Amino acid sequence: MAKFVYDFIEGDRSRADLLGGKGANLAEMTRLGLPVPPGFTVSTDACRAYLRTGEPPEGLFEEINAHLREVEARLGRWLGDRHDPLLLAVRSGGRYSMPGMMETILDIGLNDTTVHGLAARAGDDRFAWDSYRRLIQMFGRTVYGVPADEFERELEALRASAGPAGPSAEQLRDLVETYKKVFAAHVGHDFPQAPHEQLYLAVRSVFESWNSERARIYRRQERIPDDLGTAVNVMAMVFGNLGPDSGTGVAFTRDPATGAPGVYGDYLPDAQGEDVVAGIRNTIPLPELERIDPASFRRLMTIMATLERHYRDLCDIEFTIERGQLWMLQTRVGKRTAAAAFVIAAQLVQEGLISLDEALLRVSGAQLGQLMFPAFDLSGAPTPVAVGVGASPGAAVGRVVFDSAAAAAATEPVILVRRETNPDDLPGMIAAAGVLTSRGGKTSHAAVVARGMGRTCVCGADALRIDPERGEFAVGDRVVRAGDVISIDGTTGRIYAGEVPVQPSPVARYLAGELEPQADPLVAAVHRLLGHADAVRRLGVRANADTGQDARRARRLGATGVGLCRTEHMFLGERRELVERLILAEGPDEVTAALDALLPLQRADFVEILAAMDGLPVTIRLIDPPLHEFLPPLHELTARVARAEALGEDPGRDGRLLVAVRRMHESNPMLGLRGVRLGLVIPGLFAMQVRAVAEAAAQRVRDGGDPRPEIMVPLVGDVKELAAVRVEAEQVLAGVPEAPEIPIGTMIEVPRAALTAGEIAAEAHFFSFGTNDLTQTAWAFSRDDVEGSFFGAYLQRGIFAVSPFESIDVKGVGRLVRLAVAEGRATRPELTVGVCGEHGGDPESVAFFADAGLDYVSCSPYRVPIARLAAGRAAV
Ligand code: PEP
Ligand code: MG
Repeated sequence: MAKFVYDFIEGDRSRADLLGGKGANLAEMTRLGLPVPPGFTVSTDACRAYLRTGEPPEGLFEEINAHLREVEARLGRWLGDRHDPLLLAVRSGGRYSMPGMMETILDIGLNDTTVHGLAARAGDDRFAWDSYRRLIQMFGRTVYGVPADEFERELEALRASAGPAGPSAEQLRDLVETYKKVFAAHVGHDFPQAPHEQLYLAVRSVFESWNSERARIYRRQERIPDDLGTAVNVMAMVFGNLGPDSGTGVAFTRDPATGAPGVYGDYLPDAQGEDVVAGIRNTIPLPELERIDPASFRRLMTIMATLERHYRDLCDIEFTIERGQLWMLQTRVGKRTAAAAFVIAAQLVQEGLISLDEALLRVSGAQLGQLMFPAFDLSGAPTPVAVGVGASPGAAVGRVVFDSAAAAAATEPVILVRRETNPDDLPGMIAAAGVLTSRGGKTSHAAVVARGMGRTCVCGADALRIDPERGEFAVGDRVVRAGDVISIDGTTGRIYAGEVPVQPSPVARYLAGELEPQADPLVAAVHRLLGHADAVRRLGVRANADTGQDARRARRLGATGVGLCRTEHMFLGERRELVERLILAEGPDEVTAALDALLPLQRADFVEILAAMDGLPVTIRLIDPPLHEFLPPLHELTARVARAEALGEDPGRDGRLLVAVRRMHESNPMLGLRGVRLGLVIPGLFAMQVRAVAEAAAQRVRDGGDPRPEIMVPLVGDVKELAAVRVEAEQVLAGVPEAPEIPIGTMIEVPRAALTAGEIAAEAHFFSFGTNDLTQTAWAFSRDDVEGSFFGAYLQRGIFAVSPFESIDVKGVGRLVRLAVAEGRATRPELTVGVCGEHGGDPESVAFFADAGLDYVSCSPYRVPIARLAAGRAAV
């Protein structure tokens, strides 16, 4: 029979697919001999079976009972026992951590009888009744969807009437009666008294929470597959709310915000676990535990050191102290900011715990991208209106909104301001530039989620009196209203009214050569890991650059060449008129005159770029877009001509342009007269560009430079197109003998080119994949329209997890790439192959291109360091 339940002593951390992250790590800690309350894990297999059929797999509850009996035997306490009842915590835990997204139910096993047993054992009636009301509340909300407010309202009313010492045992007992009525009114039957039934229902509802809306949104955002399912961890309850010698906390083995070594975390005396993460009461810093309970603190420190050595990484931990006894409730390799990821990886290398290769795998191109974000320029010495906890770094400026829906609907940058956030705020947090809360510490929901998605966050700013109903918050005597601009600093926790200017990040300044690597620990870590990436990577990184300035910047950022210079960008601005002249030219003489006027301008541009990239390859692509893109739009011309005619004036040049625009109109210009086709039907156009390249190179040679231009032909679909252009180009090149040898290659950006790459390679010195057009043409997706059109629906429905224009579609477009590489190199083994579509700067795509055997990727200058890092990661 299939096995669905695993005691903690059966598993280990390698089994996270089956046991979920939490279950696997509980098992690992149990194996390490750490104090974990006994329990077992119901596997993700069981959840998947449940989600498929709507029923638990056969025999599941019998298996649960068998494992429960073992736990009971070990503890000598039984579920439902009237004198000393065992209580259970039931917690979700999938393969990947989804903080707060799924369900937890505590205190399973309490009922009208066992509550007395618990009171007697604990010697504390108040605690027992409070636990019972927590159970009804969590159970009602989670299993039966009773609105949380219904319970909260009663609780708030009681707290308000109870006075400073809090509610008495009698009042809590009355509250339990009220809760039971709320429950029955909503659910239609009484709160289930049978402890085993409570357990089964709790397990089912954890399974179901996998598909809750907020869990689905979170998975989409974090790109977690929808079909993994969650495991369920059933564990003997331990209590942090048994008085001042009890408590609960969260700890990190290093600072998850900066990576600095030390003791970080939050502790909440006399509280149950969920209270900390919910950020409901303000916690105290973990080091203060040393004063309150030195023995537990020392034990915790020893355990943290053990875990860090064992996992060889930053760990985060949830623990509970029950009357002086420390229990570990969870550990995992902790989430961290991008800065902390770099700093910690470099430190662990320094400490001899991991190798440089491993360190490289612990950071990502996306994280490096985040670190290149700007920070506030404080030279104007702005005064903060308040300071909270810097929970997720960055500098965010935006208009204040108080609810998640408004943030999600906003069209300009907003800061979401909340007392605390909960999982329902997720869409708003995704949409906002920053998140600001008045409650909760570094481990509150707001902090954890914001860090995970790289969103700037300041939390626990308790000087803020937030009034969402009135749409304002007050701090001192200042009132900030919805729509006002504020600036928040996620590193220092400072909050400013109005807009504070921003300046580049230290990492960006280091990458631009403006800061020494020793400037600070973060810059030093980036320097070390990027250096290692450069040392190990096989993939070259070039930049897409159309101007000398871009090329210089790209070179500073580590590009070793230009992989795409789009020459059409040189025909914009004042030069448009010259293109108009070319289009309106009548007869060969006028064409030649128009081209002759363009030639020196192009040549000068190329000289500058070749100088910036002296000694490195510069791939210059011949003009690609349809020429009518350089003409005024049809409606504008029609209006101008009509106006002139109405005034009885001669529309002149406008009239001729209008005729040309009408003549050149295409229904599908992206599939029309563009790319190589232009070169074949407009005599002299490509020849002029080739001449400009050759003469620019000749000029650089004369100036003592080492120019390495390459000429690239766009949108080729058949070898004969390329062959024809090559004949013409080589004639031109032969006329400029001082120029160095200039290779001629092609873009592979339509499926037919990929499919016939073996033939095309016979005429091409190199290939460069234009994955923008290749994606457009392989999918028949208009790259200019889809993002604002149906892509939202496609992402929502999970048809893709990410836009194929952002990250390469490995299965389809990727297959074309692999095929073209193989067939191209079969014809011409020395063929150089690169990519210059947007994907060249996307870390995941870079990994694919490395695997596909490309020689280089080319991307926008700012993404060059990201691509270098990603290429390094792909090589280890
Ligand atoms: C491409 O199609 O991927 C490409 C680089 O060319 P462009 O974006 O200019 O069409
Ligand atoms: Mg293209």
